[in-house]
Amino acid sequence: MKVLVINSGSSSLKFTLFDMADHSVLCKGLVERIGMEGTKLTYQAKGQKLEEPLQIQGHSEALAPICAKMTDAQVGVIADLSEIKAIGHRVLHGGMEFTQPTLVDEAVKAGIRKCFVLGPLHNPANLGGIEACEKNFPGIPNVAVFDTAFHMTMEPQAYLYAIPQEYYKKYGVRKYGFHGTSHKYVYGRVCEFLGLDPKTARVISCHLGNGSSLCAVKGGQVVDTTMGLTPLAGLVMGTRSGDVDAAVVTFLQLQAGLSPQEVDTLLNKKSGFLGVSGKSSDMRDIRDLREKGDKDAATAYDLFLHRLIHYIGGYHLLLGGVDAILFTGGIGENSYETRADIVKALAPLGCRLDEAANACRGKETVISTADSAFKAVVTPTNEELMIAMETARLVEG
Ligand code: AMP
Repeated sequence: MKVLVINSGSSSLKFTLFDMADHSVLCKGLVERIGMEGTKLTYQAKGQKLEEPLQIQGHSEALAPICAKMTDAQVGVIADLSEIKAIGHRVLHGGMEFTQPTLVDEAVKAGIRKCFVLGPLHNPANLGGIEACEKNFPGIPNVAVFDTAFHMTMEPQAYLYAIPQEYYKKYGVRKYGFHGTSHKYVYGRVCEFLGLDPKTARVISCHLGNGSSLCAVKGGQVVDTTMGLTPLAGLVMGTRSGDVDAAVVTFLQLQAGLSPQEVDTLLNKKSGFLGVSGKSSDMRDIRDLREKGDKDAATAYDLFLHRLIHYIGGYHLLLGGVDAILFTGGIGENSYETRADIVKALAPLGCRLDEAANACRGKETVISTADSAFKAVVTPTNEELMIAMETARLVEG
């Protein structure tokens, strides 16, 4: 079975075509700068990478050149589009309505539309991708895979904010959590890799990238996660502040004269590593600068680490002990120096670093010593494959 995965953003459309027989990628690529000057298609297949300028108006028109490449005599990977049996879509926010990947129909589209207010930047673009596929692939089922869905297994004490409940009931103000597709995938992977029973395993999943979140999972149910109503909460990230006292928001408005929109931009786009260091949002730069003696970069790194350790300690208790802590995402998979700093801080919990094993990038590896109380593991994520797997499962029934 061949499954196409679409990740439609506000100005880009990414695609990956999987052969589900062996989970191999037949082709992948993206159309970027949609609706701007310099729209471009990048297409990778059969060991080749092509780049072409495009003249298109919107997301709907982005699919035609992708389809042409997939069926092209030279670089194509399928003879006919009818070989694609289902399309899986990444959808950021599923609100309280969507707790599972869902086959798209008119009611589901209305539900995604209802969540625009919760994911104003992403959900309209995600729905745009679905509607474009309905036009370009008539009759082929579309499946929406929500970033929030995995976290809907949280209990009220984890997801409620301690504000009057009318705001939860009327507006859905609660913790939703994000990176759910990634956390679910790596939980499954780590159980398989370590031989843990997924019905009982207790795992702290650390997805550390430009956006970062932790997720405490017990028996496949989310006990807690660090992101909240939006992906702004929790850890210190590339450009996002993570947790701040909520009073900071009104203080900045009343004392510094910022508008609500300016505070939103400040916390989402100008904070985190970028805001504290004043130089870069990228972990590699932060580490390099810190090593060269840059005090602000060192402060940014220390803030990141401090908050991360704080959450790991809390999640260890909430889970009643853990079987494994895993690292994924760009930083988690690649930055062994950062992993070393984190695992060294876990010594009071009985987890010790195997320095030699930790000297790896992007490879499924146990990085704790054999006598550790629980295992620390590198687990590369693959959100596209997870979306394809969920889509195939749903369509095959
Ligand atoms: P992601 O959002 O998952 O693509 O992750 C992006 C983050 O991963 C950036 O902060 C990068 O600096 C970081 N990253 C990627 N490769 C490395 C590496 N080799 N060493 C350290 N950090 C890395």
